[in-house]
Amino acid sequence: MPRRKNPVVDMKDIVSLCKRRGFIFPGSEIYGGLANTYDLGPLGVEMLRNIVDSWWEFFVHQREEIYGLDTSILMSPRVWEASGHTESFNDLLVDCKNCQLRTRADHIIEDYLTKNGKSEKVEGRSAKELDTLINKYKIECPECGEFDWTPARAFNLLFKTHIGIIPGEKSTAYLRGEIAQGMFVNFKNVLDTMHPKLPFGLAQFGKAFRNEITLGNYIFRTLEFNLAEFEYFFDPNEQDWMEYFKFWKEQMVKWIVGLGVNEDHLRWRVHTDDERSHYSERTEDLDFRFPMGYKEMFGLAYRTDFDLRNHMEKSGVDMTYTNHKTGEKIIPHVVEPTFGINRVLFALLTDAYNEDGKRTVLELAPEIAPYKFAVFPLVRNKPEIVEKAREVFKHLNKDYNVAWDDRGNIGKRYLSQDEIGTPYCVTIDYDTLEDDTVTVRDRDTTEQERVPFRDIAI
Ligand SMILES: [Zn+2]
Repeated sequence: MPRRKNPVVDMKDIVSLCKRRGFIFPGSEIYGGLANTYDLGPLGVEMLRNIVDSWWEFFVHQREEIYGLDTSILMSPRVWEASGHTESFNDLLVDCKNCQLRTRADHIIEDYLTKNGKSEKVEGRSAKELDTLINKYKIECPECGEFDWTPARAFNLLFKTHIGIIPGEKSTAYLRGEIAQGMFVNFKNVLDTMHPKLPFGLAQFGKAFRNEITLGNYIFRTLEFNLAEFEYFFDPNEQDWMEYFKFWKEQMVKWIVGLGVNEDHLRWRVHTDDERSHYSERTEDLDFRFPMGYKEMFGLAYRTDFDLRNHMEKSGVDMTYTNHKTGEKIIPHVVEPTFGINRVLFALLTDAYNEDGKRTVLELAPEIAPYKFAVFPLVRNKPEIVEKAREVFKHLNKDYNVAWDDRGNIGKRYLSQDEIGTPYCVTIDYDTLEDDTVTVRDRDTTEQERVPFRDIAI
């Protein structure tokens, strides 16, 4: 199927397909929804698992020096003090006194500047400086049109909760705002149990939570989201962080291109001094061309020894590593590749979506597609055909996730599987009863081939 002329996919086409076919549903929908939450449906969760399995295989199993972990979402609040998140992990918000809209001060200024063709440095400004800009341009509320804002105030992005039944400062806990800290606080456990030599990495996948005011954009920015990440520890006296930076940049691109993202839709962007996180010496984002434009999909940060050093100071536990040759004790430095897994899901759907008026096709790599095969009995009112088809289904289902469809005519079944990205459709007919051959139809070329069903493999 040739690519359409303008391959920028419309957001509403993806949202509609995902809802209609069971990939992604709005969160808590029967109660009117909960803003910026989404649930994965039966096909979405298959894609997510395929993505994570591929990531784990590529970055953990295929690398001897990277170890996996699965750490808790709830951690001691002291972790977040040491990491700087309780103090520095903030958004600056303003409230409209007229309609009570609460919004990010930098966003309303940036929107105003873009609309009016003006330019001003907004990123990294203090609350006072943002107030000055809002007043200078008399920026009105995008909801009600009034100009009546509270001063900008810092709101921490960590979700606060309480452990136990009596709320109080002593029981305060946070849902993790990033998954990295679980790896830093287990650094010593891994040293003591696995005895790794530098350089080595600690990797994990899981949910993080940020109490953010978002701009929508579907599953791009949500209150809770899946991350995959690893901390790559090294001795700064023996290795240059820039070499690792370069190496991991290449590997990050290699992995995502291998999953079917078009390399022309990727670009690296270096964070400016003002936008870089408090812990980072250098950060680069790998942006992907989403339906709403280029936005961050992956991040790569040089966190130096910031985290291990702070945890060592705050916990009093020795986090040093002993160089086996020199006997010297050092605090390793770390380079951290971060992968927004929900964004990978969104990116793969975006680049796979194709239509030509006759059919809509998700051209997903077989590795990522929810179903690898769909099995069709030619007719459903002939028991011997249905029985043979069940035999083929069971055979394929041993190794692959397989769909079964016996509704309507074969043409409609093809269209239905094309739309959810199933690479191959297998039809069982009267000839199959004679010689065990089936018709295998290719999603992308629509060509059909007659083969013995036991020879089918991806
Ligand atoms: Zn307002």
